[in-house]
Amino acid sequence: DKIKLIKSKFKNTIAMFQTDLIKLGQMSNTDHLTGLYNRRFFDEQLDIEVSQSLKEKTWLNLLMVDIDDFKQFNDKYGHPIGDQALSIVSKNIQIICDDEFSNNGIVFFPVRHGGEEFAVILPSVDINEAFKIAEKIREKINGYSFVVRNTKGGIKHNNLRLTISIGLAMLNHRHTKTIGIKALIENADAAMYDAKRAGKNCVKIRVE
Ligand code: GH3
Ligand code: MG
Ligand code: MG
Repeated sequence: DKIKLIKSKFKNTIAMFQTDLIKLGQMSNTDHLTGLYNRRFFDEQLDIEVSQSLKEKTWLNLLMVDIDDFKQFNDKYGHPIGDQALSIVSKNIQIICDDEFSNNGIVFFPVRHGGEEFAVILPSVDINEAFKIAEKIREKINGYSFVVRNTKGGIKHNNLRLTISIGLAMLNHRHTKTIGIKALIENADAAMYDAKRAGKNCVKIRVE
């Protein structure tokens, strides 16, 4: 009986370790402020997706997303409200990705790539479809306004709004994996700067 007891305790302990391991795994892939995937996940997943896309000749697109004039926003409202805005933008990007999954069963990977920059990995859709998704994200954020309340529940700031600029690039199947990854990121980044130059709050594409 003692042995049985020890065995069952041991089982519980193992189960707890397993739950902890799953949690640790999720934590190491997640950005703690926004709940999106983090940069580390991005690097790993992009490697996997590029390999698969080259092997199976399937489409692979990448969006680079950057909040417009975010320095001004921070200067005007302060860093904590800036953080809140980052969470709101993230949530809206997540909602569009979740919608695409519910409607078409395709898994997209929204990532916090850096400070106020996001990326979305879009496997299995062509560039026209990817552009439509980018536009949906841009429009959703353009049309979104939020309220900041003080601790007593009173309105501190009403009708806060942000816009984003998005660069879109598609993987070129003639590349090797290493060059393909590099070109995809560089092109999406360059397209994002095209969007900034074009006046912000828009989506631009760079094709090779
Ligand atoms: P542009 O339209 O050209 O992108 O201009 P910008 O002001 O958005 O770009 P810039 O790169 O000059 O500023 C980015 C700002 O993002 C500066 C930095 O303080 C802010 N930022 C980066 N990470 C965070 C964060 O985690 N929290 C907050 N609140 N601000 C952040
Ligand atoms: Mg930036
Ligand atoms: Mg910016």
